[in-house]
Amino acid sequence: MQEDRGKRIYIVMGVAGVGKTSTAKGLAEKLQIPFYEGDEMHSVENIEKMKNGTPLTDEDRKAWLQKIADTINNVQHKNGAVFTCSALKERYREFLMDQTQLSFEWIYLYETKEAIRSRMQSGKDHFFNPELLQSQFDTLEPPAYGIHIRTDKTPAECIDSILKEIKKPKIGIIGLGVMGQGLALNMADNNVSVTVYNREIKGVEEDIAKNFSDENKEFYYFSWFKDLEKFLRYLPWPRNILLMVKAGPAVDSVISEVLPLLQEGDLIIDAGNSHYLDTQRRISELEEKDIHYLGTGVSGGEEGARNGPSIMPGGSQEAYTRVSSILESIAAKDKNGDACCTYIGREGSGHFVKMVHNGIEYGEMQLIAESYHFLRFYMNLSIEEIAATFSKWNESLDSYLLEISVDILQRRENGELLLDLILDAAGQKGTGGWSTEAALKYGVALDTITTAVMARNISGEKELRTRASELYDNKKPRNKISEDIKEKLFGAFKLVQIINHAIGFDLIYKASEENNWNLDLSEISRIWTNGCIIRSALMESLVERFKENPEKHLLLNPNLIQETETCREDMLEVGTQAMAAGCPMPVTASAINYFLNFTSYQTSANMIQAQRDYFGAHSYERTDKPRGKFYRTHWKMDN
Ligand code: NDP
Repeated sequence: MQEDRGKRIYIVMGVAGVGKTSTAKGLAEKLQIPFYEGDEMHSVENIEKMKNGTPLTDEDRKAWLQKIADTINNVQHKNGAVFTCSALKERYREFLMDQTQLSFEWIYLYETKEAIRSRMQSGKDHFFNPELLQSQFDTLEPPAYGIHIRTDKTPAECIDSILKEIKKPKIGIIGLGVMGQGLALNMADNNVSVTVYNREIKGVEEDIAKNFSDENKEFYYFSWFKDLEKFLRYLPWPRNILLMVKAGPAVDSVISEVLPLLQEGDLIIDAGNSHYLDTQRRISELEEKDIHYLGTGVSGGEEGARNGPSIMPGGSQEAYTRVSSILESIAAKDKNGDACCTYIGREGSGHFVKMVHNGIEYGEMQLIAESYHFLRFYMNLSIEEIAATFSKWNESLDSYLLEISVDILQRRENGELLLDLILDAAGQKGTGGWSTEAALKYGVALDTITTAVMARNISGEKELRTRASELYDNKKPRNKISEDIKEKLFGAFKLVQIINHAIGFDLIYKASEENNWNLDLSEISRIWTNGCIIRSALMESLVERFKENPEKHLLLNPNLIQETETCREDMLEVGTQAMAAGCPMPVTASAINYFLNFTSYQTSANMIQAQRDYFGAHSYERTDKPRGKFYRTHWKMDN
């Protein structure tokens, strides 16, 4: 069976007179594989019936289909064969597929009844009676899958179109939500043959795949299935299956459904926001069955999925090589035209990197939000002035998040600022919090990212906050903010942005070291320069900065030290003045504390160590002794 897997059976199907024989013969010649005429496998009785204009019954067709199936099973050529077979009904096609383990490509030829009738009337040697045409059209159930070719062109042109389709790399997508649909269309734009499947829930989720295919028929034909088994059977081996379903239990549930139907060498690409540890578990479970798995981060939201996301695949490198042309073709392109997609590394590293991407995103979103809030309510700038300020900043920062924030500040609904109609309660769905959990695991200080997650949590406590705001008077006059602070806000913003990135990349670096992932921080920055949510001029500059100094923390990078020094006073002043005036600046404050701690030779942690040793006998390292040796003091007795 193993050696049969490369065999592909091309069945050229459609009603009589549509042009199956000439197309199939020509196709077999081009593919240099044998050709079999299905009509020649009809019994003498069937041929007689057709000549007399008597439609064939299902019973008549049974022996004929069995003969075709037997011939398929005896195909010797390693690359398969081309058959003609009208295969008008789904159950005839299913019968053929059920009789063999080989993979099928259905080539459905179609044309209008009128065009075929006139062709048949002018034709000569065909045994088929033109009057049977109506019965053929009545019987026809066009396949929801396969290569659909209208035969209103020359046979040579039809064959060319079929060959183009056959040569396309093939992938099946499970999950046609926002991201799945965008990726499917993006792949079709990039010459990938995409077959789609979405689960069916009666009365809730029905015909999602069919509707998606129908809606896009004008430009592409997406083969679609509502039956998972048929979907998998249709994909050529080794199969490439991309999951774009809700992260979490849904991924395990889909894997357990497909697993019994998979064969060694098949590949699952999980492109949702899965937790990297789940990905690691899935990789090892599937590895045992010789099934490849790529845990693949995708960033860029709906628009990115459709037009070019940043893609972070991790797991089997062999599998990445197999689908790299697909993933790289749909990815955004960096300034040199290279794909914003690269093999990240082993195990769950792709999803780990995507998780940290989202962590950095959390930090930057909060930074923009609190800067806006400060300018509006504590510096009393109008919305227009804030939008203009952000636009000005963005001339040099070129941050996608800042760019969309300017748009947000300009959006009105019935004359009112839409932002004022949006409830100030933000959610956090996972990746931000997961970064914090990972930081605890790897012993990394993740101040800004964690603070941004916590700021969302506190925002979610709308009722408690409302009560607290009534109990505590936030309106009483506080320290005045100095006039020059607006100028300093830009410097502060720049430095907090740098610190937030330094923190995120530090987590990636430490996890990479711990797991021997060998992650390339410069390459990760490069694939984040376009397509993803945290693209910016800073990210662009990090590509070179990490190249120059790949292992070190960003704040130790010689090229960033001067910029940091230039902005540090601005950051300190903005943070302290804003808070003294009563404005919460969680991420800015967090960045200040991180910076001050990180750049301190002497921190307060000696007191912590002494306390721990005092009450818990935890021991401590000494400044007057080499590191790695631990000492105890009996605090109550050793005076
Ligand atoms: P949607 O909610 O739009 O779509 C979710 C898809 O998952 C639907 O096709 C849904 O099917 C399917 N699904 C849900 N539960 C199950 C289940 N138990 N079994 C089978 N299928 C199921 O989500 P998105 O397309 O936005 O997101 C998909 C993935 O991509 C998620 O992991 C998300 O975190 C990630 N992602 C999303 C981004 C975004 O901006 N939206 C950006 C980057 C990644 P049905 O229609 O039947 O419910």
